[in-house]
Amino acid sequence: MSESAAYGNFIAGAWHAGARETLENRNPSDLDDVIGHYACAEQADVDAAVAAARAALPAWADAELETRHAVLNRIGTELMARKDELGRLLAREEGKTLPEATGEVARAGQFFSFYAGEVLRNFGELAPSVRPGIEVEVRREPIGVVGLITPWNFPAAIPAWKIAPALAYGNTVVFKPAELVPGTAWALAEIIGRSGIPEGAFNMVMGHGAVVGEALLGHDDVAGISFTGSVETGRHVARRCAEGFKKVQLELGGKNPLVVLDDADVETAADAALNGAYSGSGQKCTASERLIVTQGIHDRFVEALIAKLQDYKVGHALAADSKMGPLVDERQLDKSLGYIALAQQEGAELVFGGQRLNRETRGHYLAPALFTGTHNDMRINREEMFGPIAAVQRVRDYDEALEKANDTSFGLTSGICTTSLKHATHFKQHSAAGIATVNLPTGGMDYHVPFGGKKMSSYGPREQGQHARDFYTVTKTAYTKV
Ligand code: ADP
Repeated sequence: MSESAAYGNFIAGAWHAGARETLENRNPSDLDDVIGHYACAEQADVDAAVAAARAALPAWADAELETRHAVLNRIGTELMARKDELGRLLAREEGKTLPEATGEVARAGQFFSFYAGEVLRNFGELAPSVRPGIEVEVRREPIGVVGLITPWNFPAAIPAWKIAPALAYGNTVVFKPAELVPGTAWALAEIIGRSGIPEGAFNMVMGHGAVVGEALLGHDDVAGISFTGSVETGRHVARRCAEGFKKVQLELGGKNPLVVLDDADVETAADAALNGAYSGSGQKCTASERLIVTQGIHDRFVEALIAKLQDYKVGHALAADSKMGPLVDERQLDKSLGYIALAQQEGAELVFGGQRLNRETRGHYLAPALFTGTHNDMRINREEMFGPIAAVQRVRDYDEALEKANDTSFGLTSGICTTSLKHATHFKQHSAAGIATVNLPTGGMDYHVPFGGKKMSSYGPREQGQHARDFYTVTKTAYTKV
């Protein structure tokens, strides 16, 4: 891997080639297609990026509101205008289908447009004092230099929903994208670099988690870390942040239940399950991996879902007729195949898919897998699989469904398909997750409302919407004698 990187890191407003080692970006739909070689940062690059962000902080924190507003708006507008082109790049490097990828780029743009507006809405509070003749103000200030560490499954949206609020509230940024998707990250950094943002306010360092991520976690001048990724790495990030008294925000895994009740519309339920479990090849922390179905509708629901899976064509992410692309890499494919084998050992019945597929181009293709006859204490219903695999559990009634839905160490999203207002309302109140959906897939799509979970799924303040302010700002209380 000594080829020089065509795509550098972005530090202090300039592009840097980095070390000799590069990240090779390959298309998971076609392993013969090399997208490019991307610079691999080292400790010295991270130090330079943090120093640049620190130097840029006072001016960016105090920049005129309309300057920050205009920068964010320009980034959002360009992302939306180039959604087709950048969606192609995203689909090519990550493997989700073109419509999914294009939609994701547009959504990334909407995060920037939304937070452009929030720049102007960062209001404080005015409180009466308990002492006469004194006025109390509560202001919101940026926390400082933030390190943003992101995963590969949403290469545009997750960076956007961290970078946009970080910059909107006056912080400066060092962004570390996932190793597998440097292409979209680079394109995003290139757009941000041309947005009129001052030098150093935004920096991007690509490379390995163990080097670049660690360097951010250990840096004294980084005030906060926002991380999305695996539970194991998240736990480590939280520990390191505690040692350095850094503010921390974690979005981790999920083991999300989709409950289907007897009174559900079976088509609505099967569509919710199809999209919830298999879109993005199931590589989402919001995926519906557990389908909890009451006995009266069980067989009809499974039949309807299998009928939809038969039309769910697996193929090259850029092919117009593909409904599902490949898995992102060999490691994820092996992980999914391992869970498919484990499910069978555990006594689950494989009623659809689950085998590796060959296509015209070499890629990590897998037929979406559906299991029935599972129960909640099987490992396939306890561990996050992060692939196109769903497991149906048959239950007696709503009460048992709710109990099973909540019996998990995760708590990101949950869903119910029902026509009963009573059960829908009860579920929204009692599901032990941060997001609950009714007659919809178990996702959290809107960018103007909070996103996050309970239990092992999230840690720290919420992301997205106005709630992101709780992470990206710190209050200052000011007293004035009048
Ligand atoms: P996955 O197993 O899906 O790759 P990770 O949680 O390991 O998920 O990765 C999510 C992000 O965290 C990636 O950008 C990765 O490079 C980064 N990362 C991995 N290990 C560390 C670490 N020790 N410190 C900081 N970041 C890390």
